[in-house]
Amino acid sequence: MAYTGRFAPTPSGPLHLGSLLAALASFLDARHAKGRWLVRIEDIDPPRCPTGAADTILRQLEAFGLKWDGPVRHQNERHAAYQAALERLAALGLAYPCSCSRKEWREYAIYPGWCRHKPLNPERPLAWRLRSDLGRRPIEWEDRRLGHQRFDPTELGDVVLKRKDDLWAYQLAVVVDDADQGVSDVVRGADLLDNTPWQRQLQDALECPVPRYLHLPLVLGDNGQKLSKQNLAPALPTDEAGIRHTLHHALQRLGQQPPREMAHACVADQLDSAISAWRPERLRHMAANEH
Ligand code: GLU
Repeated sequence: MAYTGRFAPTPSGPLHLGSLLAALASFLDARHAKGRWLVRIEDIDPPRCPTGAADTILRQLEAFGLKWDGPVRHQNERHAAYQAALERLAALGLAYPCSCSRKEWREYAIYPGWCRHKPLNPERPLAWRLRSDLGRRPIEWEDRRLGHQRFDPTELGDVVLKRKDDLWAYQLAVVVDDADQGVSDVVRGADLLDNTPWQRQLQDALECPVPRYLHLPLVLGDNGQKLSKQNLAPALPTDEAGIRHTLHHALQRLGQQPPREMAHACVADQLDSAISAWRPERLRHMAANEH
């Protein structure tokens, strides 16, 4: 299969070291395989996406030399495709409208599926959920770093595909777009590993090809917490010297052992060298920060 990779940030703020590592690893994996590398802005949740954040991310990718192929896709322009997928699932009896509120099933670990046959209260706003009890069980796949993965979808529950406030859920949007864009390889942070079983279920239900998955180790900050905007991960530099230094550091964090003499080289030279030297198996050396 021809390689197509992607970086799919939610533009909730600028990139930080954690998201830069996900972008860099997927870029290196794609370029090492002489594949395509796409950027998709996952802006399906406008309240979480401040104006200008997507542009900032694109400028940051450019500054770090991470050049993508083709136009950038924005999920907020893809409602019709998500709607078509939802209708297909509903026609297959795999998706159903649900009127329950979280409060009503708070005593259960997962949503108990009360609305599977018809919504308890059709007057209330409706979310759409995927039936976890009808597809193939267990769900299995090979993660390139973590090896064989196996889940029983009924233990995870009926995931929301469309929210009551009419926003599309990440799980549906990501599966529809990965398939539509011909993504063969998903390289992303291990914080998304828990989502993969639902995405695998949806791929089966929608008869989409299944990409290969590589979940990177989580990157922890000096305080031992996951790097994120909430944890006030330090901003990435914007000056040339800072960018070169951060790129070198990022390659080290990915376990790639970049030659010391590359530390001050321009981004293009650092990336060329890192593309030919890319060894995903060395991600194991990120293990000091494993979650
Ligand atoms: N948009 C998701 C995020 O920024 C990532 C999606 C993915 O890589 O599958 O967390």
